[in-house]
Amino acid sequence: MARIERVALNLLSVAIVTGISGYILGCAPVEREPASQAATEPKAQQEEAGQGDQVGEQPDQAPEGADAAGLYSPVKARARDFYAPNTEDLGPDEMRLIACGTGMPTARPKQAASCWLLELGNGDKFIFDIGTGSAERVSALQIPYNYLDKVFLSHLHTDHFGDLDALFVGGALAGRQKPLRVWGPSGATPERGTKYALDHLRKALTWDIDGRQGLTDPRGFHLNVTEFDYMGMNEVIYQENGVTIRSFPAIHSLDGPVSFVVEWNGFKFVFGGDTYPNKWYAKYAKGADLAIHECFIAVPDMIEKFKFTPQSALAVGTQIHTAPEAFGKVMSIIKPRMAVAYHFFKDFDTTAAISDRIRTTYDGPLSLSIDYMVWNITKDEIRVRMAVVDEDVWPPPATEKPQLPDATTRIPYSPEISGGRLDMKKVLQPTYDEINKQYGIHEKQE
Ligand SMILES: [Zn+2]
Ligand SMILES: [Zn+2]
Repeated sequence: MARIERVALNLLSVAIVTGISGYILGCAPVEREPASQAATEPKAQQEEAGQGDQVGEQPDQAPEGADAAGLYSPVKARARDFYAPNTEDLGPDEMRLIACGTGMPTARPKQAASCWLLELGNGDKFIFDIGTGSAERVSALQIPYNYLDKVFLSHLHTDHFGDLDALFVGGALAGRQKPLRVWGPSGATPERGTKYALDHLRKALTWDIDGRQGLTDPRGFHLNVTEFDYMGMNEVIYQENGVTIRSFPAIHSLDGPVSFVVEWNGFKFVFGGDTYPNKWYAKYAKGADLAIHECFIAVPDMIEKFKFTPQSALAVGTQIHTAPEAFGKVMSIIKPRMAVAYHFFKDFDTTAAISDRIRTTYDGPLSLSIDYMVWNITKDEIRVRMAVVDEDVWPPPATEKPQLPDATTRIPYSPEISGGRLDMKKVLQPTYDEINKQYGIHEKQE
């Protein structure tokens, strides 16, 4: 309920900011906006997006037809400063990162658990972590599921892969007509590795997938898992289409967790999974254009709001994870163009403690992330905004023609269960007649 109210408020602010009242009524599409124009828009929304914790640019030219300062006109809409999915092209030399989960293992309406969608100007898209609750955020971005077939897991805590089943099955039903490719680390033993986890996840979905057999396009219901050595030191685990992805170890809970470096088009993007601050991140994330690193809730808030005991708050908040002051220290070492902190509940009464602690050790560009925060990264600037999403979103059309399944592969009910059907033939026949006529097919009831 809280989330619904928040979205409603967001939509209201959209209407005010843009003056497009018809948007709310659904009778006017949001205007398409080229990336080059977007780059010159004012950044007032950043205050709202991150309580002033963003770094951005100031407007440098007045929109046509506006007053001298470029702020007011009775007839011209002011420049928009939010990201509306499916309304902006991505430039060929540009990267866009969208936070689809920034919170904790206990997903909540405001924050799903860890998930980051990286879109490159060459058309490639990568999902880093797919934590609990995040598949819903991914769906809000209106990206055809055929493009969302590459997932990289930092480790096997559910707040980092708990929605993989939702993306796997939901994506296959909504237009991913190919296997879901997943990369994840090995563990100290085979049972602690990604392959073991996903083999068993696939087994757990036996009933689900068997029950869909013969009903829909079957091509998406396959997991293609690549397990790589968690001990690899900045070793290449992916290299396609001009994109190189490397991994290096993290220190968290057990052996196994990793972080990733993406290199493309002269950019360096780093996604850090959960970790105690480690020397490999300090080395391999150095000079990143954008560096994501976990940053846990400040210890006093873990005790007071999360009801941890002081002992476990210290252990979990500073030793298993990275405390805010330690996050700042790491960022001071690597000096990214933009540091991104996540893995805390970002509320009115928690943000200041995190920000204050980070600022004791780091004074560079910083985003305290929240779900639906968006970064557009070019050589010249890193633009930070919030996405405004449509609650009524449907999956986008499939990018390829669906393949008809082989209906003979359906697994039948037992005679006992099949015999329990009420006779609906007369009720349903008009629907068969209508659809057969409209689409020129000849389907019959079972
Ligand atoms: Zn973890
Ligand atoms: Zn975590």
